[in-house]
Amino acid sequence: MSKSLLAKRATQLLGSVIDSSTSLLQKQSHDIVRFAMGSPAAEAIPDFEPLAAKVLGAEAFDYAATEGDPGLRDALLEMLDGTSDRTVPERLTITAGGMQGLDIFGKLFIDPGDLVIVESPTYTNGSATALSYGAELAEVGVDADGMIIDELIEVVDRAGRAPKAIYVIPSFQNPSGTTLSLERRQRLIELARRWGSMIIDDDPYGLLRFGGDDIGSLRSLSDGDPLVFAVRTFSKIIAPGLRVGWVDTAPQHQQLIINAKQAMDTCTNLPGQRLVAAFLAEGGLDQHLRTQRERYRERRTAMQTALADQFGSRATWTDPDGGFFLWVTIPGVDTQRLFAAALAEGVAYIPGPAFSPTGRYPDALRLCFASTPPDRIVEGVARLRRALDA
Ligand code: PMP
Repeated sequence: MSKSLLAKRATQLLGSVIDSSTSLLQKQSHDIVRFAMGSPAAEAIPDFEPLAAKVLGAEAFDYAATEGDPGLRDALLEMLDGTSDRTVPERLTITAGGMQGLDIFGKLFIDPGDLVIVESPTYTNGSATALSYGAELAEVGVDADGMIIDELIEVVDRAGRAPKAIYVIPSFQNPSGTTLSLERRQRLIELARRWGSMIIDDDPYGLLRFGGDDIGSLRSLSDGDPLVFAVRTFSKIIAPGLRVGWVDTAPQHQQLIINAKQAMDTCTNLPGQRLVAAFLAEGGLDQHLRTQRERYRERRTAMQTALADQFGSRATWTDPDGGFFLWVTIPGVDTQRLFAAALAEGVAYIPGPAFSPTGRYPDALRLCFASTPPDRIVEGVARLRRALDA
């Protein structure tokens, strides 16, 4: 097909290095310790077979209401009652995972040329979604307390215009593992109000805290301010293959979100919604989360210990209180070049530049500790060290 037939926006679709690693690794036939994808532990995926037998009758394969299956909406409202994300039906729309929530945000709020601020490093599938709607991106650094708000102010001053949106992953950030502090959350909300900017509050990992004290979500700290667009997903807390998530937004946006979905996928797949609803209705989520938090804490610590044993002072890494990821910096090492040697040794990760729209962080890499048992983590980190020494 002639390239000239393509819409301009097709050239704004970048593809995802992160997602491509799934198919890359599927093609490898040798043993690989997989620190690349941000997947939950295989042992953490609930046994859906008995639930499927109960809830997947023929009617579960019909079209569903665009805003979400009533059974899932009720179960989700009840689940959220116990969290800082407590909400009401008029704010809730079920989506096909967190990615669809991000896409709907772009569709409703981003015009070509709008300035969108992203963390640096960031989850580039999110920034790529903004780019696909023609956003101009500006990166703001992240430290141990999340997005550096003083730098945000400088970047906006330099841009000379208010951002349309500020995209943040406030808890156990992907990829750095760091958490936006309470004080910075409050400052961010104040600034967004002053500038009239939206905040995309993308928080897939908030319920997976295994250390430190809970901080209210941006959504709750802003008291349901229409400027905050909260994107959530069951991918990390239950299972990513379900492709079920939700957005929580001001009620005046709900109909537009439904309209956007009706021009996109009609409704979120009903069998997935029914399985999540059944899992929640059986009351297993609390225990499930307690088990996962314990598991992920153990794996985080195993990975940090292995890194200290293998790399000592040659590398530094973050100290997350939850979530899935460690961000490792190995000064002087090109982690994109190292990748081939690592794969040959039998270990996979995502190189740092994949987490910056401008390819920063050549000497960093993201490791997912969540999906690998501790003994394999030790083996994987030893392989990484061998790759480095090769
Ligand atoms: N946002 C962030 C920060 C994520 O880490 C992910 C998943 N890696 C998503 C959004 C997308 O979630 P989902 O798989 O539910 O689309």
